[in-house]
Amino acid sequence: MGGVVLRPTVTRRALLGVMASLAPLPRGAAANYESAMTATLRQFCLRTFVSARGGLALAAVGSDGLLFASHPAIVRETLWKPGSTVKPFLLQHLLEQGLLRAEESFPCPGGPLPFAGRRFDCSHAPQGAPLDPATALALSCNHCFLHWAERLARARGGRASFAEALRRAGFSARQVFGQRCAPASVSNPASKEAMLLQALGEANVVTTPLALLEAYRRLLASPSGGELPPAMRVPRQGMRDCVRAGTGAEARVEGLDLGGKTGTATSSDRLSLNGWMVSFWPAARPALVMVVFVENGRGGAEAAPIAGAAWRALRPHLPV
Ligand SMILES: [Zn+2]
Repeated sequence: MGGVVLRPTVTRRALLGVMASLAPLPRGAAANYESAMTATLRQFCLRTFVSARGGLALAAVGSDGLLFASHPAIVRETLWKPGSTVKPFLLQHLLEQGLLRAEESFPCPGGPLPFAGRRFDCSHAPQGAPLDPATALALSCNHCFLHWAERLARARGGRASFAEALRRAGFSARQVFGQRCAPASVSNPASKEAMLLQALGEANVVTTPLALLEAYRRLLASPSGGELPPAMRVPRQGMRDCVRAGTGAEARVEGLDLGGKTGTATSSDRLSLNGWMVSFWPAARPALVMVVFVENGRGGAEAAPIAGAAWRALRPHLPV
């Protein structure tokens, strides 16, 4: 697989608009941002996706353009379960539906979490205190999220409402960034168990890397002015903490304010795991969002360090 660059569909002006809103553009350097980032990522991916089979794609949050994709066919055609990358959307949905409050907490008991004939044990260290929703997201706590998702399963119409939220978010989109993608899908769960598996991104949802990138791009687009409502603020805080000290800590880059979310999901034959890391910069006001996916890997252990290394390579081209 070579590192082939997609012809960017974003106009240079759109990206420059994003960058200009962050910081004054250095004189003369402005016109080179997009091509410099693209060239950097192309080199990075050529080096990276030799031993690790996977890919990377980058988009601007404030426009509808894809900036870079390492393997155009793969990011369009690979259908994967999203795993825990659905959790920010679940959190947003629970908060919007009034089924969870930002100031609530739940004491993760740790230890084994057998569910639906499988194991969903939390990977985080014991916390010694109940977890609020943002911290639970940062640590990708399955105990907390299964506990809160139960409320959806019990609520009238709740089961189908999360599937609808995922569709609305773009998980099932088959036309993304103007490109035809593999048939991603989100189906309505037939049972409570199936709904809870969907809440962990492990059933009734398959998506492409490009569709996941687009879903996050939309999730991170802020309304202009004013304070964010809890349904937007809490997932954003949790994703910032995820990179600072949570499951995405391997993506941390000194001097860059990054946010993100890891995901690890079983392959369709359930014989192996695939890893995701969706990350964005700056966490306080996202301008760029990146998806990294790794076959036969985990989100926190394999995809996150690749994302961190990619941001480190991009750093000289970012106005920081
Ligand atoms: Zn936990």
